[in-house]
Amino acid sequence: MSSHSNELSRRRFLKLSAVGLAAIPALSLLTQRKAYADELPMLQESDTQAQAMHYTNDATKAGDGRQANAFCHTCQLFTPVGDGTTGTCQVFPGKRVNHNGWCVAWTQKAG
Ligand code: SF4
Repeated sequence: MSSHSNELSRRRFLKLSAVGLAAIPALSLLTQRKAYADELPMLQESDTQAQAMHYTNDATKAGDGRQANAFCHTCQLFTPVGDGTTGTCQVFPGKRVNHNGWCVAWTQKAG
């Protein structure tokens, strides 16, 4: 193999290595984000913010003002996590809500 050919191989190896190394943090971040959502604490009905929004873990026990089809899992602001029995909610960042929960910010899911 000529020295020119060796130099091209070395450059190609370095480029591929750089691409591979650059991908590691991105993959790691994706894995961490999923794990992070799974590990968020559940929103408690006793939380001050939950009470302000009349959040309940069981929508069927909500008082007047709730539509029959209104649950967290039918809400535009809900993103299921794991098996979908819980999820994140844009109203309560850093917490998970019950998929059968409800609060006054419920917004019909599009589609
Ligand atoms: Fe549930 Fe939607 Fe209220 Fe969030 S905004 S707690 S997803 S009903």
